[in-house]
Amino acid sequence: MKVTIVYVVHMQRAHGLSTLKGYTGYGSEQGPKELREGLVKAFYSDLGIDKDEIFISDGAKCDVIRLQLLFGPDVTMAAQDPSYPAYVDTSVLVGQTQGYYPDTQQYGKIVYMKCLPENNFFPDLSKMPRTDTIFFCSPNNPTGATATRKQLEELVAFAKKNGSIIIYDSAYAIYMSDDHPKSIYEIPGAREVAIETSSFSKVAGFTGVRLGWTVVPAELRFQDGSPVIKDFNRVLCTTFNGASNISQAGGLACVSSEGLEAIHKMVGFYKENTRILKETFDSLGFETYGGQNAPYVWIRFPGSQSSWNIFDEILEKADIVTTPGRGFGPGGEGFIRASAFAHREDIIEATQRLKSLYGGKSN
Ligand SMILES: *Cc1c(COP(=O)(O)O)cnc(C)c1O
Repeated sequence: MKVTIVYVVHMQRAHGLSTLKGYTGYGSEQGPKELREGLVKAFYSDLGIDKDEIFISDGAKCDVIRLQLLFGPDVTMAAQDPSYPAYVDTSVLVGQTQGYYPDTQQYGKIVYMKCLPENNFFPDLSKMPRTDTIFFCSPNNPTGATATRKQLEELVAFAKKNGSIIIYDSAYAIYMSDDHPKSIYEIPGAREVAIETSSFSKVAGFTGVRLGWTVVPAELRFQDGSPVIKDFNRVLCTTFNGASNISQAGGLACVSSEGLEAIHKMVGFYKENTRILKETFDSLGFETYGGQNAPYVWIRFPGSQSSWNIFDEILEKADIVTTPGRGFGPGGEGFIRASAFAHREDIIEATQRLKSLYGGKSN
C-alpha cells in the first residue's frame, strides 16, 4: 500500500548509514528535533505543545511501562474496564498488585473504572475514589468508545481536584470521524494534569517497525512541585537509548504531507472494513458498539455467555479468530472484539461465514 512505499523509501535512505558521512551512532534519547517538530505540526498544531515536550520512543506500550517505573509501586491507579491490558499488567509488574472493584468493594491500588454500554462507556466520577494516576484510552481499545469534550472536561477537572495525573492513550485518534477531541490537550487545563502517549503502530502499520511518542507538558508537576518532565527524561535516558534511526526515518516520512495523505487513505480502507463488519453483526441481530472512531467492533453476546466460549465457538465453527472481551478486564465478559486489520477479501469471507453460523438463530 502507498503508505508503506512512502516510509520504506525513506527508511532505505537511512542506508546512508553505510557511508562515512551518513553514519549515526547514539542519537539524542528524546528523538530528533525534525521528527518532534513534525509531530507537533501533524497532531498538536494550535494545542500549545512544544517539540521539547515530546519524547520519541519504540512504542506506546514501552512508554506505559516507563511511566509505571516513573511513578513507582506506591501509587494508586485507575484504568478503564475494559481497556488495553498493558496499563493494569504493567502496574502489577511494578508491584501494584491488589485490585479494587467497586462491585465487590475490595480496596487495593488498582481501581477499575467500568466503561460499558450501561454507563455510556464513561465512569460516574462522583463515585470514583481518588487515585494518583488515571489511565484513559480514547478511542478505547477494545470498545471503540470515544469520550466527548464534556466528558474529558469532567475528567480533567476530576484530576485537578484530586491532584491526579492522567495518562491519556490516543493511539487510535487518527481513526476518529466525529469532532470529539483527538488529543487531551484540546481540553483547557489538561497541560497541568495530563501526559499523552501515542504510536505509529495503528497510524501507519508500524507494529513491527516500532515507533511511538509521549508528551509531557512542562507545567505538569508532582505533588511536591517538581516537574514530571525532568524525571521522565531521566527515566527514559536511563532505560532507553532512543528509537532506531531507521524507524525514525520512517516516522519522519509519515508526518510529511505526502505521508499523511497516504496514511489517511489507508485509515479510510480500514474504516470501510470496520463498517462492513459492524453492518454484518448488526444484520445478525447482535448488539454492537464502536466501529465509528476505531478499527474495532465490540459485540455483546446474548445471555451471559463467557467471552472465551464465544471465541471458541467462532473459531471452531467458522475458523475466524476474534478477541475474547475478558482479556481486556472483567467488564469485557460477554463480549468479543472484531478487528478490521485485514485484507478486504478476508473480511468479506469472514462476514459470509458469520452469516452461515448465526444467520439461522435469532439473537
Ligand atoms: C496497539 C496499541 C498501542 C500500541 O503500542 P505500541 O507499543 O506503540 O505498538 C498503544 N495503546 C493502545 C490502546 C493500543 O491498542
